[in-house]
Amino acid sequence: MTESFDHIVVGGGSSGCVIAARLATEGKARVLLLEAGHDHHHPLLDMPPGIFKMINGSKFMRYHQTTPQAHLDGRIHDIPQGHVLGGGSSVNAQVYMRGRPSDYDEWDEILRGNNDRVGWAWEDVLPHFRGMEDNNRLSNDHHGTDGPLQVSDPGHINEFSRWFVQAVQAMGEPYNADFNGESQRGVGFYQFMNRHGRRSSAAYAYIEPARDNANLVVRLHATVQRVLVEKGRAIGVVYHDPAGDVHTVYTDGEVIVAAGALVSPKLLMLSGVGPPDHLAEHGIDCKAGLNGVGQHLIDHPEVPMTAIANGPYGYYRQGVGWRMLKNGLQFKLFGSGPVTSAGVEAGAFVNPDDAEAPPSIQAFCVPIVYLDRDTLDLVEDDYGVTITTVVIKPKSRGQVRLASADPDQMPLVSPHLLKDKDDMRTMIKGQRFFLRVLQQKPLADRIKQIAIPSPQDVSDDAIAAHCKRFVKTNYHPAGTCKMGADGDSMAVLDAKMRVRGIDNLRVCDMSAVPNINAGNTNAPAMMLGNRCADLVMRGS
Ligand SMILES: Cc1cc2nc3c(=O)[nH]c(=O)nc-3n(C[C@H](O)[C@H](O)[C@H](O)COP(=O)(O)OP(=O)(O)OC[C@H]3O[C@@H](n4cnc5c(N)ncnc54)[C@H](O)[C@@H]3O)c2cc1C
Repeated sequence: MTESFDHIVVGGGSSGCVIAARLATEGKARVLLLEAGHDHHHPLLDMPPGIFKMINGSKFMRYHQTTPQAHLDGRIHDIPQGHVLGGGSSVNAQVYMRGRPSDYDEWDEILRGNNDRVGWAWEDVLPHFRGMEDNNRLSNDHHGTDGPLQVSDPGHINEFSRWFVQAVQAMGEPYNADFNGESQRGVGFYQFMNRHGRRSSAAYAYIEPARDNANLVVRLHATVQRVLVEKGRAIGVVYHDPAGDVHTVYTDGEVIVAAGALVSPKLLMLSGVGPPDHLAEHGIDCKAGLNGVGQHLIDHPEVPMTAIANGPYGYYRQGVGWRMLKNGLQFKLFGSGPVTSAGVEAGAFVNPDDAEAPPSIQAFCVPIVYLDRDTLDLVEDDYGVTITTVVIKPKSRGQVRLASADPDQMPLVSPHLLKDKDDMRTMIKGQRFFLRVLQQKPLADRIKQIAIPSPQDVSDDAIAAHCKRFVKTNYHPAGTCKMGADGDSMAVLDAKMRVRGIDNLRVCDMSAVPNINAGNTNAPAMMLGNRCADLVMRGS
């Protein structure tokens, strides 16, 4: 028996959940959402510190590994991605950031070519951000309070976070009460996509309220292998279930691929949409020759600096023994205490080159020794604090390629973090700036020793060596099926996220963006989904 739907959404992540729920409820279309991962109801996902338990090993994550990165002396590093309904929004640190207005004005400028505005300028996307948002503190031109996505101030603030905010102020930076408001610059406390510490993912905000709607069919553990393309038109998809049984589903409407920036290009290529030479290499019939598929991978590089505390400060040991019991009870009974915190509360946006210019570095203060699994052993396990610095407008570009034509194989991912000399230069200045922050009062008074990088040698060469050893993803891969203007030979999508050369096929997730926003990417991914739902409902 053939099964058919009005639309099929591939990947139930931050973007895919928004698209599927809105097409089914507001668009009154029969929608199939296929998600490779697990159900999102689990205590580890619901409570913010769960991220620390998951980051280095969990069934809710897929751990992509990079190919050896020659410019990092051959290092291989992980890129974990959500493998659960809600995707990244179900596993992330919940920091609510949009980037800055100029990010979106830049998108629109890139995409419009010689035309008028094409719907991506700040003025166009702000109503989406506001409309999706239910902010617990801010209600103004920048923030909404009626949307399904709960955004809240931190439920708990650790002493290290407060000392960090004071120390950055001591460096001359202003206090910023809203990084998503008038100005990004300064230091302050982030807002989070949760309420009383309970996660507000795309699954909770969009799929849960639509669960009883018969138009929406959600299938978990459904791994899509490819999109069926016939006579230049997408007509369905092939997926397999956990038993390995293969199913084909059809649509007269659209197939919307939202499998994330590392998998969406892989699925396009397996469907015959991609660079012709690369497809031929793997014996895949070319349906649309698009050289940009899998190219233009952008990610935010993150480099940690870690200091050991001279007292029992921070979140170390808060999750063990009697403290775990006490903190767990406080969370369960009152929705308060350390368990409401994802372990990062304070942050900063600075430009070490020119304080008045748009920030080039975002920093996160993590009140614990926090490193990836491949660098974990390099710093003693003790009370401490980690500050991570992130280049927010990187120039480096990487790529995603097929390892083989076997859909079960992970793609080859080469993100080239810090490969561009300007990115490295910016990162070095960011590290130097925050090393000085660690030496400001009141933070300095609580620090026994800066463990990495060495504060004794802050030469470019020494900090660059530290960056090469420790750089990792800030978990924001993007740009691998980018929208582009007519005439851009590397454009995969038009400005409405439609795949060039194939009818009824869109890609809508972080792979679609022409450049990365200056900040975390979950709210932008959800905004993309919201805008895509509008476009599909309007038939444009
Ligand atoms: C550990 C971590 C921490 C982060 N912290 C933050 C943060 O604090 N704040 C912030 O704003 N952003 C954060 N991010 C980034 C943010 O969550 C992502 O940018 C965002 O979720 C990307 O959304 P997306 O829709 O592009 O892809 P995803 O949300 O990754 O969705 C892709 C979905 O497709 C599914 N899928 C993949 N392959 C297939 C297939 N073959 N068939 C069917 N389904 C498939 C996946 O399981 C997934 O559910 C974090 C991300 C991670 C991983």
